[in-house]
Amino acid sequence: MKVFAGGISTETNTFSPMPTGMRDFSVIRPGDDFAEGMAPAFDQFRLGAQERNWEYVFGLYASAQPAGITTRATYESLRDELLDRLQAALPVDIVLLALHGAMVADGYDDCETDIINKARRIVGPQAKIGVELDLHCDVTQSMIDSADAIVLYKEYPHIDIANRAVDLFHIIADAAEGKTDPTMALFDCRMIGLYLTSFEPMRGFVDEMMAMEGKDGILSISLVHCFPWGDVTTCGAQALVITDGDADRAARVAEEVGCKFFSLRHELDQEPLSIDEALAQALAAPAGPVVIADRADNAGGGAPSDSTFMLKALLERGIDNVGLAMMWDPIAVQVAISGGEGANLDLRLGGKMGPMSGDPLDLRVTVTGIIEDMIQEWPQQGDPLRVPCGEAVRLHCNGIDIIVGSKRVQVFSPDVFSNFGIDPLRKRLLVVKSAQHFYAGFAPIASEIVYMAAPGAVAPRYREIPYKRVDLRKYPWVDNPFA
Ligand SMILES: [Zn+2]
Repeated sequence: MKVFAGGISTETNTFSPMPTGMRDFSVIRPGDDFAEGMAPAFDQFRLGAQERNWEYVFGLYASAQPAGITTRATYESLRDELLDRLQAALPVDIVLLALHGAMVADGYDDCETDIINKARRIVGPQAKIGVELDLHCDVTQSMIDSADAIVLYKEYPHIDIANRAVDLFHIIADAAEGKTDPTMALFDCRMIGLYLTSFEPMRGFVDEMMAMEGKDGILSISLVHCFPWGDVTTCGAQALVITDGDADRAARVAEEVGCKFFSLRHELDQEPLSIDEALAQALAAPAGPVVIADRADNAGGGAPSDSTFMLKALLERGIDNVGLAMMWDPIAVQVAISGGEGANLDLRLGGKMGPMSGDPLDLRVTVTGIIEDMIQEWPQQGDPLRVPCGEAVRLHCNGIDIIVGSKRVQVFSPDVFSNFGIDPLRKRLLVVKSAQHFYAGFAPIASEIVYMAAPGAVAPRYREIPYKRVDLRKYPWVDNPFA
């Protein structure tokens, strides 16, 4: 057997003013240094092929931090490079793609459907195509028709990227060997939102999905969570089921799982806390560190990560013994590095990308740390994922340690503090710009976690998102769209 693997991955916030261009993509090509733990799906695809003594051809993997619409030239160039390598690798028996599922480019509302359909045309009807997607995706019938199996991450935070790649590999390998006939069905849950799987009722829901897999001909069950900041007609939660050759059963189980999820909709609603409410709750905690998630400025959802609303509130209230990470401000990083460790500077910080970032703050800061190539180790179910964060500095201002980066990246682990010699356990408050990926690393050390909805580019207030194209005959706009 010959296996071909590749992918292009970014999550597109169609409301973001920051375009995604070629400079924003990290591209790994055949022969490039491909450090283990950077792209776990490909580690697993390669291992799976090696274990079976199958030939493994790696095409290309391009990934970009979520931001606005990808430029047409960038998308077409990366897609064509990937597909040209697939063409050159023919004949292949298996194609494994690691994509995101919510990528939008100029002229392409749905890049993943485009890639999968074109891959199918290249390899013909016999080869098996398997796709791993982020759960913050949209899945279309056209994808289902072109691919043999689509498997999504089940966990948010996404700690199961490698395990789901293993699931996908097994399903596709069995199909390629003629042991099974993967058959997919979708059910539209008519909901839009973000669903955290660390807590009930999602925890139990995910565990139930997993318990159903491998029984009664069910090969895989995924919940398509959707990405609420992608203004495309396909946005919405769905259930996706793969059975072994039984289309009716796949449709029935998808409906059963989808309706179960829909029945949880009121329980899943989270009360978004304002800055005042979040601070009141955090400061009432008897001990630290209380972690406050600044969800609205999460780089992982396409936000700039340079908003100043929370930092301003902390300074105005004189709250000290706080760590705040990571503010994206490459200019401030350059100035701090030029000043050097120990420098006292008048620095204009943050608030540069637009109204959703707030106003810049003019601060007197001390540079207390500089790291040239910061890495965060993001805890996973297997080996941690190593996330490069570029140049970063630690600034101190009125009892607040502010971590500022030159690369726009969300907070994945307490490394953002401990890399600078800060003991996160000794802080009263830790403010992290992240919606949920911080959770795996911070839950073990936090005395309490407070989810805040400050103003910002990805505030979890879905009814306020200025959609033009999404079909709003869905929850929470309509309480029961099935009625
Ligand atoms: Zn995601």
